[in-house]
Amino acid sequence: MKLPVYLDNHATTKVDPRVVDTMLPYFSENYGNAASKQHEFGWRAEAAVEKARAQVAALVGALPEEIVFVSGATESVNLALKGVAEAYAFKGNHIVTAKTEHRAVLDTCSRLEKYGFAVTYVPVDNHGTVSPDEIRKAIEEKTVLVSVMFANNEIGTIAPVQEIGARCREAGVIFHTDATQAVGKIPIDVTKMGVDLLSCSAHKMYGPKGIGALYVRKHGPRVRVMSQMDGGGHERGIRSGTLNVPAIVGFGKAAEIAMEEMASDGKRLAILRDKLVDGITAAIESTSVNGHPILRLSHNANITFSGVRADELMMQMKDIAVSSGSACSSASPEPSHVLRAIGLQDRDVLASLRFGLGRFTTEAEIEYAITRIVEIVQVVRKGTQQYQPAQI
Ligand SMILES: *Cc1c(COP(=O)(O)O)cnc(C)c1O
Repeated sequence: MKLPVYLDNHATTKVDPRVVDTMLPYFSENYGNAASKQHEFGWRAEAAVEKARAQVAALVGALPEEIVFVSGATESVNLALKGVAEAYAFKGNHIVTAKTEHRAVLDTCSRLEKYGFAVTYVPVDNHGTVSPDEIRKAIEEKTVLVSVMFANNEIGTIAPVQEIGARCREAGVIFHTDATQAVGKIPIDVTKMGVDLLSCSAHKMYGPKGIGALYVRKHGPRVRVMSQMDGGGHERGIRSGTLNVPAIVGFGKAAEIAMEEMASDGKRLAILRDKLVDGITAAIESTSVNGHPILRLSHNANITFSGVRADELMMQMKDIAVSSGSACSSASPEPSHVLRAIGLQDRDVLASLRFGLGRFTTEAEIEYAITRIVEIVQVVRKGTQQYQPAQI
């Protein structure tokens, strides 16, 4: 077993070796510009891009022409929210979203607030679930967009997307979902679920970094987004810029593999995840698991170790790569807004760790992780107890 053990698959995933193999020829031999319409190099690149577009589309039940390639989920979310805000400004200036969204959504919303938009941040229950009825109630005359994430990147809770989609359709409002943690992990059908816009990213599903997609519904209803990047008119004018052909090819391959393997991956990871959670919670007192007990990503576990500081645990635990309950960028020490939103006190937020298993996680790694975490939590708790009297 190679150390450190990687249990941070919500942050990013290893590129599947099959994906790497598929990408390589598009750096060396097939290096054409997909927009070069006059020669063989361009045609080959374009054909590869269109194949990948169909593969990504199939993964979410979309048509190939509804997929716009962008640099990742952050850009996808920015394009969806700002693009709809601009295209539908004539209709209204109100957006509905949830408190537990990724920063990509929350920060884009605060930018839009500076430009005169009003945003309603709907609260979640203590499992992190947003109620479709609360979303419906938040929709007003001036609402142009609802944006609710498919699955949460910290606590793994899966949203009632289909019910939210139905409420939005009923109200005649566009529905966007940040599905970055869900695409390639659980089945998604944009039409059945009433999704109009969907954001995803290849590096969260064993593809390369720097490539993602925005799904834009074309029929029933046709959704418009105003481009946020002007230039050569690539991607039907929605996103200009020379296409990153190797990355797009890799994204397509990752989507194809996910189609075939998500069910078996999901089953295997749920068993390993449960083993990790049971091993930790059985051996360590005062632990609690965050997120929805059933409607959750099978590779996610988020655990609070009461009375222990997560950053201290991680310092002692350099052989296991996990993430703390504080905001995902270590640059900002703000306690996680997600854990706060599900009702945790700040001391518990700062005592929480996120475990993210993935396709390459082995049983031996999980057994190692359990042993080490149990050991380290006990050491750190003892240290804290000895230290506390002196503090008081
Ligand atoms: C990782 C992530 C993003 C950002 O994706 P990038 O491709 O890194 O820009 C957005 N939303 C969620 C839910 C994520 O997990």
